[in-house]
Amino acid sequence: MTAPEPSPAPQPLLGATEIRRLAEEIGVRPTKTLGQNFVIDGNTIRRIVAAAKVDPTETVLEVGPGLGSLTLGLLDAAARVVAVEIDPVLAAKLPSTVAAFRPALAGNLDVVLSDAMRVTELPAEPTALVANLPYNVAVPVVLHLLEHFPSLKHGLVMVQDEVADRMVAGPGSKTYGVPSVKGAWYSQMRKAGVIGMNVFWPAPKISSGLVEFTRREPPKTHASREEVFAVIDAAFAQRRKTLRAALAGWAGGAAQAETYLRQAGVDPSARGEVIDVIAYARIAEAKISATV
Ligand code: SAM
Repeated sequence: MTAPEPSPAPQPLLGATEIRRLAEEIGVRPTKTLGQNFVIDGNTIRRIVAAAKVDPTETVLEVGPGLGSLTLGLLDAAARVVAVEIDPVLAAKLPSTVAAFRPALAGNLDVVLSDAMRVTELPAEPTALVANLPYNVAVPVVLHLLEHFPSLKHGLVMVQDEVADRMVAGPGSKTYGVPSVKGAWYSQMRKAGVIGMNVFWPAPKISSGLVEFTRREPPKTHASREEVFAVIDAAFAQRRKTLRAALAGWAGGAAQAETYLRQAGVDPSARGEVIDVIAYARIAEAKISATV
């Protein structure tokens, strides 16, 4: 009988000492403007990677690799990692960090120096988005990437905990808003956990939340995404008002808004916070079918 193969030793991840040393080497002082809070805890990285359910054949898009904490964990789990970083000093350092900590996997990394809110082309087609996102731009980044990269089928992002609650909220919930409805256009979003402040350097003042998403078909409608999103923006710009009042500007008058809402099967006295993305699509469609 042969002895069972010993399971491979876990690969080292970046802890507080390595992160501070790397930052010092390149003279980086984390900035709030770019949401630079680096993860200094290997267990948190393992937890994120496990929750992301990345398949070994996948190409993962990572936004904001920073000093590489999550990048190393993703390289262990995926076939390829495309890392989009806005900070030129961090982007330039990443390949050598990966070469030092994962020499065998260094060829599986592409670093793209770019603003993730503007990127429209990547060196490989990503199927998953996994990122510890810069907090001030987390929602627009996710929406931009879901719009421009239809190859993204699923993902897991770390954002401010209250933003995570907004992204996953359903109609009728206090936290339901534009991020929830627009996110639901592309995907099913689910909260996948809360992360404390002490696993970061520097430590933020608030907890972080994990949001897992799976892409799905958008609602079937003749209205375009832009047309549906215009209704959502108008409804939540005045979220305390009835839809009849909130959509008056968009429809060309309150009476017109009421006509579209009735045609869409939506109560004109309801508020935008109680209807789902399918109802928003029906409202947008009511307007375009009246004008064709
Ligand atoms: N992934 C690293 C980690 O977990 O330690 C760093 C995460 S840190 C919260 C956010 C990272 O996003 C920083 O490296 C920052 O420079 C980068 N960043 C900020 N705004 C960005 C943008 N618009 N596009 C791409 N990267 C951005």
